[in-house]
Amino acid sequence: MNTNKKILIIVALMLISLAAATIINIGLNFRDYALKNSIEKSKLIAKVVRDGLTSHMVNGIMDKRADFIKNLSNVKDIEDLWIVRSDAVRKQYGQGFKNEVLRDTIDKEVIKTGKMVQKFVEEANGAHLRVTVPFIASSYDTPDCTSCHNVAEGTVLGAVSMELDISSVREAGAYTILRIFLLNLVFIIIALGVTRYYIKPYMGLFEDLLTMIKKAHTGDFTHKINSNIKGDGALVVEQINNLFQKMQETFGELKNNLNTFVSRANLSCSDPLYEAKAIIHELADVYKFKHTIELDPSRSALYNRLVYVISHKFEIEHFALYEVDKVTNTRVLLYISEGESFCDESTIHDTNRCRTQRTNSDVISTDFPNLCENCTKQDMKYICINFNINEDVSLNLSISAKTEDKINDINQNISSIRNYFEAAKPVIESRILMDKLKDSSLRDGMTGLYNRRFLEEYIDSTMVQAVKSNIRYSVLMIDIDFFKMVNDTHGHDVGDIIIKGLSETLISNIREIDMAIRYGGEEFIILLHNPSVKKALEIAEKIRASFQARSFSINSHESISKTISIGVAHLPEDADSIWKVIKFADTALYVAKDSGRNKVIEFKKEMFDLGESY
Ligand code: GH3
Ligand code: MG
Ligand code: MG
Repeated sequence: MNTNKKILIIVALMLISLAAATIINIGLNFRDYALKNSIEKSKLIAKVVRDGLTSHMVNGIMDKRADFIKNLSNVKDIEDLWIVRSDAVRKQYGQGFKNEVLRDTIDKEVIKTGKMVQKFVEEANGAHLRVTVPFIASSYDTPDCTSCHNVAEGTVLGAVSMELDISSVREAGAYTILRIFLLNLVFIIIALGVTRYYIKPYMGLFEDLLTMIKKAHTGDFTHKINSNIKGDGALVVEQINNLFQKMQETFGELKNNLNTFVSRANLSCSDPLYEAKAIIHELADVYKFKHTIELDPSRSALYNRLVYVISHKFEIEHFALYEVDKVTNTRVLLYISEGESFCDESTIHDTNRCRTQRTNSDVISTDFPNLCENCTKQDMKYICINFNINEDVSLNLSISAKTEDKINDINQNISSIRNYFEAAKPVIESRILMDKLKDSSLRDGMTGLYNRRFLEEYIDSTMVQAVKSNIRYSVLMIDIDFFKMVNDTHGHDVGDIIIKGLSETLISNIREIDMAIRYGGEEFIILLHNPSVKKALEIAEKIRASFQARSFSINSHESISKTISIGVAHLPEDADSIWKVIKFADTALYVAKDSGRNKVIEFKKEMFDLGESY
C-alpha cells in the first residue's frame, strides 16, 4: 500500500473515531435529557391529578373522578394512569373504585415511604417510564389537606401512578443521531478530499524521491522529478533536480577521467561513487608501487617487488614470471612458486613455443582445454599473459589454479595486474638500458666475454654466496703459447682472430653457469661452477685439445694452429679465497709454461714456493 493511501486511511479512521465519539456522546446526552424531561412531565401530570382530585373533593364531585382520570389518560404518551389510596384515606373514605388499588411493588413502596419512584424500561419495540408520585398531606397547601383528611401533617394520602410511552423521544433522538451521522459522513468525505488534494503532490514527490535515490544507489543520477507541487515544495524539487544533474555530470566525468589512468575491467559495482573510490584506491596503490620500484637498487629487486604484489596483493599462489629476450627468442625464469612447473623447458630456449608470447594475447585455459600445448599444467586451469616492455623485452606471467571459478576470479584481476606492469614498464626499461650500459663496460668488446673489471666487481659477492651454499669452484688460467710470434709474424689482425677463436673454444666447452673472462691480452680465466676436481681437469684438457685441433686461416692458402697452457686451482681445496685460488692457478700456468707449454697443470702446494721465485 502506498503512503498516500495510508495517510488517507489514517485520516479517515481519525475522523470516523471522532464522529463516533460525538454521536455516542450526543446519543447518551439525548437519552438523559429525554428521561429527565419525561420525569418532569410525569411530575406535572401528578400535580394536575392532585389539583384535579382536590377540586373534585372541594366541589363534592369526588365520585366523578374516574372520568377526570380517564380523560387525562388520553393525553399523548400516557399509556396508563391510576391513583391509589393509602390506608388512612381508605379508613376515612372507604376502599374507592376497584382500580384504585396498589398494583405493584412500586405503588406499595411509594405509599410506604412517601417518596417518588420512577423506573425506565427500554425494550426492542419501545421505551417506557413507570412513575409513581406520592400525595403527602400538608396543612400549608391551599386548600389545607388536613381540613378534610383526618391525618397528621406529612401523612401519605395516596399516589398517582402512570406509565408513559417515551418511544417518540427515543425516535427523535435516533433521528437526530442519524442527521449528525450523515453530516459527519459528508464532513469526512470533504475532509478526505481536501487532505488528498493537498497531500497527493507531496506523496508523489516522496515516491519520486524514493525512485531517484534508488537509482542513485546504482550510479544513475539521471532521474528528474516532474512535480506540479507549488510553493516551498517546488523550490525543493528544483534544488534536488539541480543537485542530481550536477552529481551526474561530476561523477560521470570523474569516472571517465579516472578510467584513463587505470583500466578496471573487473569493476562489478555500477555506482560511480564506489567505482571512483576503487579507482582512486588502485591509483594510489599503483603510484606507491611505482615510487617504490624507482628507488629499488636493481632490476631483480624490482622484479621481486612485482612478484610480491602478485602473490600478496592479488593473493595468487601459483605463478611463474619470465623475462623474454625477443631478439634471441629466449627467456629467463624470474620467479616460480615453490614446487611448481608451468611451461615445458623448451620454451626457455624458444619463446615461440609459448603461446602467449607468440600471439601476444592472453591465454586462458577455460576458453579451450589444452590451449597451450607446452603447458605442463594440463590438469589445472591457467592464464598466461604477455606484457611488452619494449621492442626487445617482454614479460610472461603464467598463473594456475585448481578450479575454473578461481581462475575466473583471477581473470577479473588481470587488468589490475596489467596496471602494475604498466607502472613498472618505464622503470624496467630504464633499468634494462642501465644494465646494458653496465654490461658493456663489464664485457670485452672483441670477444664478448666478461672482462677483468667484471671479475673485480662481482666475484667477491658471488663467492660469498658460493661459500654459504657449499658450492665449489675450479679456476682455469689460460694463456696462448708464443703468441707474440703470431703478432710479429702475421700481424695483429691474425692475432685478434686467434684470440676470438680461443674465446669461442672456451664458450663451447663450458656450461652457461660457468664463467669465461678475458683476464688480459691473450689470457683468460674460466670459473667452473661446482665441478669435481677430476671433472675440472677433464674440461681443461678438453679445452686445450680442442683449441690445439683448430686451425686459423691466415690467407687463402695458409693457416696456423696454436696451443694453450692451462693452470688449474680449486676453491676451497687450495685456498678459501677466490683471489688466492686465481693466484694459484696462475702459478700452475707458469709451471705449465715453464715445463714445456701446451699442457694442463694442476696447482700443488709445493708450487707456491716455486711460484714465488718467478
Ligand atoms: P708465452 O708462451 O710465454 O705466453 O709467450 P707469449 O709470446 O705468448 O708471451 P705473452 O703471453 O707475454 O704475450 C702477450 C702478447 O699478446 C703481448 C701482446 O702483444 C699480445 N697481445 C695482447 N693483447 C692483444 C690483442 O688484443 N691482440 C693481439 N693481436 N695481440 C695482443
Ligand atoms: Mg700472456
Ligand atoms: Mg702467451
